[in-house]
Amino acid sequence: MFCSAGRKGNKFTGLGQILGRTATMKSLQSMTENTSPGLTSSNIRFVLVRTSHPGNIGAAARAMRTMGHARLVLVAPLHYPHADVTALAAGAEDVLENIVVVPDLATAIADCRLVLGCTARQRGVPLPEISPRIAAERLQQAPPNDEVALVFGNERSGLENEELMRCHAAVHIPSVADFSSLNLAQAVQVLAYELRLAALQGVALLPPPLKSDPLATAAEMEYFFAHLAQTLIDIDFHKGRAAVTIERRLRRLFQRAEPEQRELRILRGIFDDAQRMARLAGSKKE
Ligand code: SAH
Repeated sequence: MFCSAGRKGNKFTGLGQILGRTATMKSLQSMTENTSPGLTSSNIRFVLVRTSHPGNIGAAARAMRTMGHARLVLVAPLHYPHADVTALAAGAEDVLENIVVVPDLATAIADCRLVLGCTARQRGVPLPEISPRIAAERLQQAPPNDEVALVFGNERSGLENEELMRCHAAVHIPSVADFSSLNLAQAVQVLAYELRLAALQGVALLPPPLKSDPLATAAEMEYFFAHLAQTLIDIDFHKGRAAVTIERRLRRLFQRAEPEQRELRILRGIFDDAQRMARLAGSKKE
C-alpha cells in the first residue's frame, strides 16, 4: 500500500516527489503494508544512492522481488521515472509501486537503527568491513520494529565518504581485488539472496540481542554528533588544530558502540554541563 502525503506522519522538509506525492516518514515506513503472498513483510529497506542508469533501478527491483523484498528508496536518482525502470523490472510491480524518492541519504535513513553500506573497495573511511552473510544475519536479527537499511552507491563513484560515515559497517562482496566492482543490480541480488537465506534458516528466530532500550536512530546520531562537535569547540578541545580528524575518529567510536537512545541522552546531558561550565569559565575571565 502506498501512503500519501495527506496521512499523518513526521513530514520532512525539502523532500523530493514520489510519483507526484511527497514522501513522509510514514511513507518511508509504510512500504511494508504489502499484501502479495511472495513478499516478506519487512523492516529492511534497500537504498540506492544517485543511481545513473534507470535500467539498474528496474533490475534492482527485479532482484529484490525474486527474494521477497519490496522496499526500495531512491536517493536523488539521475533519471526517474524512466521507461527503462519499468522494462528492466520485468513485472516487479510491488516494488515499483512502493518506491520512495528522497533528496539525500540522511533523509532515507533518518529513522533507521542499523545502516549497512555496500562498497566495492576499501575507502579512506575507517569502518568495520563485513561479508554479505554477516550483514544479512545482522539485518535479519534486528527486532521487527527496528527500521534497518542496506545502502548501495552510484555506478561509477560508489558511496561518498561522508555517506559511508553514516553507516555502522561496510559490506563487501568478496570479489577479486583487480576487478572488484559488480554491476549495481547484481550487488543488490547478492545481498537480497543472503537476506533470504538468513530468513529461511530462521536467523530471525534467534533470541534478540540483550538490549533494554531502543537503539538511537540515524537522525538522533546526527544530532548527537553535531552536539559533540559544538561541545569540543566550546571547551576549546582542538586548540587551533583541525577538527575533522578527531570528529571522524569519535564518529567511528560511537557508531561502533551502537548506543541506545537513553545512553545518548546521558552523553548529551554531559555535553550540556560541559558547555555550561565553559561559559561560566569564560565569563569569569572577563
Ligand atoms: N566504482 C565504484 C563501484 C560502484 S558499483 C566503486 O569503486 O565504489 C555500484 C554499487 O554496487 C557500489 O556502490 C556498491 O554499493 C555495490 N557494489 C558493487 N560491487 C560491490 C562489491 N564487490 N561489494 C559490495 N558492494 C558492491
